[in-house]
Amino acid sequence: MRSRGQDWLVDHLKRDGVVAHSDVERALRQTDRAHYVDSGIPLAYIYQAGGLQPADSPLPIGYHETISAPHMHATCLELLRGHLRPGARVLDVGSGSGYLAAAMGLMVGEAGKVIGIEKHPELAAQSVKNVRADHPELLDNGVVELRAGNVLGDVLEGEQEGFDAIHVGAAASSLPDVLVRQLRPGGRMVIPVGPQWEYQVMQCIDKDAAGRVKKHDLMHVRYVPLTKPGESEWEP
Ligand code: SAH
Repeated sequence: MRSRGQDWLVDHLKRDGVVAHSDVERALRQTDRAHYVDSGIPLAYIYQAGGLQPADSPLPIGYHETISAPHMHATCLELLRGHLRPGARVLDVGSGSGYLAAAMGLMVGEAGKVIGIEKHPELAAQSVKNVRADHPELLDNGVVELRAGNVLGDVLEGEQEGFDAIHVGAAASSLPDVLVRQLRPGGRMVIPVGPQWEYQVMQCIDKDAAGRVKKHDLMHVRYVPLTKPGESEWEP
């Protein structure tokens, strides 16, 4: 759903050049950040408005996790947009609030599919409520499916079809093979790779038609860790 606050936010992302294409702009305008954060967070923080805010930043969603900063959502959509065509099959790893899964669902349309996987079952359940409040049709028509599970466990074992686009919303210490394998020929993954609780490098992984994999380093980022099953993200 559109809101004035969300429009304000996207106007700024556009002015700053973070949002460059109309398909990304449309998806972001129609996905209202207010539905994806803890209730009680002031609107000025949600939309990063009014000069009160810290810089365009993540916000808490519970369980020590955060919804990514608006400019990171926008950047990832811009990087993946060529692979988020109508009908595409998409994986959102660490789907957290469900924000990006919903935005990508709007881009791939009714013939497409976005599977979000989130390790905290409570967050996965909350993300379903978030998407239901914003875009119930995405759940009702099966475009967006949000599952609880750990992608470094066995949750992807039954996946045979692969994905045209993979977004990873948590930082991997090294590029996980299990995700590279899930990329279809011609597909693209964006994933932060690097040490936990330090700066990581956002990498773009492209698989060509012959199945060859190319990596590009894009920018430094700070994401919460992509944890293995049973691993705590708060270990020293
Ligand atoms: N794009 C999301 C980002 C949420 S933060 C948003 O904007 O809301 C990253 C999420 O990754 C956290 O919720 C964390 O619980 C989850 N996560 C970390 N490691 C994971 C793993 N191995 N499998 C699935 N989810 C994981």
